[in-house]
Amino acid sequence: MRGSPWCFRAGWWHRRAEAPIIRGEHRRNPVPIRRDDRDRYVEVELRRGEEPLWLRCGSCGELVFRRRLRENNYICPRCGAYFFLTAEERIAALVDEGTFQELTLPLESDDPLSFSDRKPYADRLREARESTGLSDAVVVGTGNIAGHRVMLAVMDFRFIGGSMGIVAGEQLAFAMERAAEERIPFVFVVASGGARVQEGVLSLLQMAKT
Ligand SMILES: [Zn+2]
Repeated sequence: MRGSPWCFRAGWWHRRAEAPIIRGEHRRNPVPIRRDDRDRYVEVELRRGEEPLWLRCGSCGELVFRRRLRENNYICPRCGAYFFLTAEERIAALVDEGTFQELTLPLESDDPLSFSDRKPYADRLREARESTGLSDAVVVGTGNIAGHRVMLAVMDFRFIGGSMGIVAGEQLAFAMERAAEERIPFVFVVASGGARVQEGVLSLLQMAKT
């Protein structure tokens, strides 16, 4: 329900944005914006694969040009809030340009418990694969950071909350073993909700493995 265009928050009056700002929402889902024919800001439905040019900071409401945000390492230039990063964006922000070589193993989880909650785990996996283009929640590869070659493992929260099941555990173990073999540092970027409950105790086993 929309009331007054003003709201009192954190000791100050703020003019409400055209669309309600939900604190923290930008972390899961950056809000794409455009101006409509009456010069109002409206949210945009994006087709898959499209990138919005402008994003609104979920913390202060500032509209930020995507390229400016990227140059600022996905930190709001106005209020310093951190935006959500996909694995791909994290890698681009971390490694020297053009040096990343992906080594993610071609593995996919096959629902060992035939688990179902509000929807079957198999459907959840398929949707996550389609929406992220990833095979599971971890991306692995080598790259240079300030000229030093490292092994990287980066989680992607979009893939079922970055949760760790059999496949994620295997990718991590592979990356760590490979780093030890090559005697290069292993860098792990964690963005995970924890063990993947849909794989039960098999997920918990990954803790011993990694
Ligand atoms: Zn902000």
